[in-house]
Amino acid sequence: MIRSGGTGAPVRALTAFAREIALPDRDDVVPTIRRRWCRFRLFHARSPIHRWGIYTAHAIPSRRRVIEYTGERIGDDEIRRRSLRHHLYLFWCGPGRAIDGAIGGSGAEFVNHCCEPNLRVSIVRGRIFFVSLRPIRAGEELTLDYNIMGDVAVTTCRCGAATCRGSMRRPDH
Ligand SMILES: [Zn+2]
Repeated sequence: MIRSGGTGAPVRALTAFAREIALPDRDDVVPTIRRRWCRFRLFHARSPIHRWGIYTAHAIPSRRRVIEYTGERIGDDEIRRRSLRHHLYLFWCGPGRAIDGAIGGSGAEFVNHCCEPNLRVSIVRGRIFFVSLRPIRAGEELTLDYNIMGDVAVTTCRCGAATCRGSMRRPDH
């Protein structure tokens, strides 16, 4: 469990907005990308990192909002309840507040982890945007560093990056 707010550890600026995820067991969950929440044309395809990935059809310049992470907004009690679920797409957007991408997700919840990501997270007034860290080529898979904190069973990373730290956890966890 991530405790980035509420009863847990104090929120540490942007780095506290970590994602808690337990990757789905089922292989038949196919991403749906809702274009309304995308600034660029994206598509899903098989990923060398993990099952499905989200890719860009066009080149994306650096420092551009690419997709918004949408879903149901929930608070402390509901976060605790849903944390018992096997498949989690909770993304913390503030103390005791999270967005559950499993319900009404834009497709951003399927962006895979990589230790050398091409996206970063930007939280603006409780909304979560994935922003390009560098120019991204057409056809490239979009990736994010999940920076997982807490007790999450599945965190082994096989992203293939030269600097892969072998774990989706935050480096200091
Ligand atoms: Zn890695």
